[in-house]
Amino acid sequence: MTTSLLFHVYGLRDQELLRTDFKYSAVTVKVKTKEDKLQCSHCHSWQVIKSGTKERLFRGIPIGSRPVYIIIKVQRLECKQCGRIRQEKIKFARPKSHYLNSFRRYVLELSRIGTISDIADHLGIGWDVVKEIQKEYLLKNYGRPNLENVEYIAIDEFAIEKGHKYMTVVYDLVSGVILYAAKGKDAESLEGFWRRLKKKDVHIKAAAIDMSPAYISAVSTNVPEAQIVFDRFHIKRQFNEQITKLRRDLYRQETDLGKKDLLKGTRWLLLKNKENLDSQKNEHARLQEALDINRPLAIAYYMKEELDLIWEQDNREEAEKVLGSWVAKAFACGVPRLKKFANSLLAHRSGIFAWYDYPISTGPLEGINNKIKTMKRQAYGFRDDEFFILKLYSLHEKTYALTG
Ligand SMILES: [Zn+2]
Repeated sequence: MTTSLLFHVYGLRDQELLRTDFKYSAVTVKVKTKEDKLQCSHCHSWQVIKSGTKERLFRGIPIGSRPVYIIIKVQRLECKQCGRIRQEKIKFARPKSHYLNSFRRYVLELSRIGTISDIADHLGIGWDVVKEIQKEYLLKNYGRPNLENVEYIAIDEFAIEKGHKYMTVVYDLVSGVILYAAKGKDAESLEGFWRRLKKKDVHIKAAAIDMSPAYISAVSTNVPEAQIVFDRFHIKRQFNEQITKLRRDLYRQETDLGKKDLLKGTRWLLLKNKENLDSQKNEHARLQEALDINRPLAIAYYMKEELDLIWEQDNREEAEKVLGSWVAKAFACGVPRLKKFANSLLAHRSGIFAWYDYPISTGPLEGINNKIKTMKRQAYGFRDDEFFILKLYSLHEKTYALTG
């Protein structure tokens, strides 16, 4: 080790090398602060008298697989200027930390290519140390998402633990970042976001949400100027759920065993888009057979295809006609589930047609959702909610800005 290496690699600019030892496959480097760099840490005066030392140990960037320990003789200084007795000011590490700042930066560099446990294993340090270093960095750089000029948002929730723990997120459809995240999936979980909006005097033009009453009331109460746009993909998913339930009803009611069998394997076929059916697995024929023996199912299936057309017209007037005829069919077919769904669409129609003024959706959040799944697989310490939220803020999803 040389003084130059200490400076350039380890960031020890005011120290000089005393000794380097190789023991137990580790490198131990003893250093002390240069005489002319000793300064009162209180008043910054140079008029100081040395009054004893205390050794402190820091981790430095390893050399290959060898850990590097830096031992520094920290000076106690008596200041002639202010009369205080203080330890010299340490510039190369955080107060109370056992890791050099350059080591922390190295951990952050490794964070781009490995998981927390990979890095902890590689450096032979605790998992929590890596996490805290990452957390400090995230807090500094992403702790306060910028709300300025935000106009188009999407709100949605994710399950962060299977089925019972949720997180609500607000996403900026233009910049592609998460603006806010909080535990829960009700209106309450959004309150922190509205508070920050008001403080910043931000005016939202449109918000993409699902048709849940909690979100509708939260948006219309807190940003009444914003146009609500119901997310087309959520609507489609809700309709798919109705088809699944209808198939289950029909399966239960069916007494003919042959027909029962036909219905049994069709759940996924019914939900697939027609163009994705696999002809090698005979999926077209199997689906057709099931539809042929079952009128309500056939109606629901074709109505699923027609539902998409609501969002695929040239203008709002055409879309209104499409919805009108869809609803008329649902009422005429006599299937209660479809009727109920049609009523719900009618009740929400202004937010459905708003798509033609603001073609936004919660679609881009799906990409974020996938990244969250990866984060969870890598066990990114998501039990620490604050850390998990900071990780969310640091994600950046490609924007499909305003095209759905
Ligand atoms: Zn002083």
